[in-house]
Amino acid sequence: MTRSTSQSYELVIFDCDGVLVDSEPIANRLFAEMLTGEGLALTTSEAMRRYMGRSFASCREMIESELGRALPAGFFAELCERTLRAFRHELRRVEGVGDVLDQISTPICVASSSTHERLRLSLEVTDLLSRFEGRIFSAYDVPRGKPAPDLFLHAARRMGAAPERCAVVEDSAPGVEAGMSAGMRVYGYAWHGDARALRAAGARVFHRMPELSTLLVSQLAHPAQRGEKGPLERNAAGRPQAYRYPLRGYGSSGPAIPRAKACATRRRSPPRKLCACRPLLRMSSARCALFRPNSQYTR
Ligand SMILES: [Mg+2]
Repeated sequence: MTRSTSQSYELVIFDCDGVLVDSEPIANRLFAEMLTGEGLALTTSEAMRRYMGRSFASCREMIESELGRALPAGFFAELCERTLRAFRHELRRVEGVGDVLDQISTPICVASSSTHERLRLSLEVTDLLSRFEGRIFSAYDVPRGKPAPDLFLHAARRMGAAPERCAVVEDSAPGVEAGMSAGMRVYGYAWHGDARALRAAGARVFHRMPELSTLLVSQLAHPAQRGEKGPLERNAAGRPQAYRYPLRGYGSSGPAIPRAKACATRRRSPPRKLCACRPLLRMSSARCALFRPNSQYTR
């Protein structure tokens, strides 16, 4: 299914840990072990629930406030070292993610709370690096990590995409919050995460990676292809005229719209005259289809 699954988006931004690579159980096991050594006894699942998706700076703040003292200077450096060592032997990609990436025709990138070193290693070990080379963004590139929107906005800017035309795939509530704050649509992968927390943060939740392809297709296809109607237009006498769908950004040859006729025909406008929707859509009449209230195409 290599058809254009994401034509209405300019960019799909993937979180790395827990979305592309199954790193959270490994990383949080080591994190919990080290925190227990510091006097904050935690299990792997507790560490995942508390810190998953947060930058080290955000985690440090939470931990130090709970401990009532500062963590040792080399704490996170040692955690990184242990984590990278474990990743080389244990890390696997999330099942099904390769197929999903194959199906997305829109540009993709990765934006993660991890350091660049850890990100590159994670992608390299799981044979995903070539898919994201040159499009890897870390929370260390921006002033504030997740749940602040900085990282996603930075990624969108660097990739030349408008935030409202970006989709984010996340597995943690802080990550979802970051995407929502950035004004993006967020898909929440609830495999390791808490589905309720993801949903509460604003994500469209899915439970198995293959479901993401379906979600992207259903959400990103032209509204007409989803069987939806556009806003009802009325003429000067107040009589219903047509449901109009803009085609800009969706392509003009989707399977459900081959018979669409141009506005120009119905309006008897000169062929090059811009459609009335121009201020919003900046399209010519010839690219704007009209739909009757009964969804049948008209001329
Ligand atoms: Mg994650």
